[in-house]
Amino acid sequence: MSSSGTSPPVERDFPLARLTTVRTGGAAEFFARAGSEAELAELLAWAASRGCPLSVVGSGSNLLVADEGVCGLVLKLDRDLAAIAVEGSAIVCGGGARLPAVAARAARAGLSGIEFGVNIPGTVGGAVRMNANAYGGELERVLDWVLVMTAGGTERRSAAELGLGYRRSSLAEAEIVASARLTLVPQEPEKVKATLAELRALRHEAQPQGIRTFGSTFKNPDDPRAEGRSAGLLLAEAGCNGLAVGGARFAPKHANFIENTGAASTADVLAVMAEGRRRVLERFGVELEPEVQTLGEVRFPWL
Ligand SMILES: Cc1cc2nc3c(=O)[nH]c(=O)nc-3n(C[C@H](O)[C@H](O)[C@H](O)COP(=O)(O)OP(=O)(O)OC[C@H]3O[C@@H](n4cnc5c(N)ncnc54)[C@H](O)[C@@H]3O)c2cc1C
Repeated sequence: MSSSGTSPPVERDFPLARLTTVRTGGAAEFFARAGSEAELAELLAWAASRGCPLSVVGSGSNLLVADEGVCGLVLKLDRDLAAIAVEGSAIVCGGGARLPAVAARAARAGLSGIEFGVNIPGTVGGAVRMNANAYGGELERVLDWVLVMTAGGTERRSAAELGLGYRRSSLAEAEIVASARLTLVPQEPEKVKATLAELRALRHEAQPQGIRTFGSTFKNPDDPRAEGRSAGLLLAEAGCNGLAVGGARFAPKHANFIENTGAASTADVLAVMAEGRRRVLERFGVELEPEVQTLGEVRFPWL
């Protein structure tokens, strides 16, 4: 980046597939890791001065990267921006902190409310953008505020100002969650740890383990024609378990999970998504909407 020697290095043509859980897609034109608010501010200014588009990856656990790569600067938060601190009955953490680590830290400190995060393999920043939820817990319910950084400056936003809903927020693409504060409730550490163990076991039962996937592909529909069925159930009933295109397939154990079985490309994933969606539409009249987020020029074939 600059020649000052203190600025974080910006790498060119950085392969992004390994920063995602499904392991598909091309390279970032520019890539850098921000380890502090000061570094993040410098990188944001660097991108703005070049008119470079900006995006951020967390754990890449809900992300589909374009095979052609991503223009502009892609950022990842680490060090201070992935730290976790207990402050009384709250947790203040970086946007790059991993949710399972936050859940474990809270349990050790005897704090309850973020147990559901133990099974969500994403970061706090990604969880804010997606309003992550699981097993009755939801980020919105424990989120106090976030620090949002852009090239224009830093702003503290309360949870109420984030437009949180089912797997969505009003954060704009170039707005980066640098840190967040979660308000939790004191409880016996052993009780919180026991809940984590129970939730891990439940997840182990319900979902395939050790596969390359971005979790739920489509959102659960609120269309009455779905008659309350989840996206996974609709896909399963439409015969999608195990359905494959190239190296991508709907997991045999969970039809709303797409798995990279080897050398899948993002194009394979999109093709298998399109076929699953087509079958559900044909059979039930329900139009499934993707839950997975995209980076770069990814076009869903049906749009
Ligand atoms: C096996 C598996 C199980 C899962 N189970 C669940 C579940 O139970 N519940 C659930 O809600 N989700 C689940 N997910 C999906 C995923 O883990 C969540 O959506 C998670 O919140 C994404 O976080 P991430 O850091 O991986 O974000 P990424 O996938 O890296 O990015 C997702 C979006 O968030 C943005 N983003 C990332 N970091 C930041 C930041 N710091 N500031 C602003 N924007 C940011 C990205 O630009 C992108 O738009 C699962 C995924 C997998 C693979």
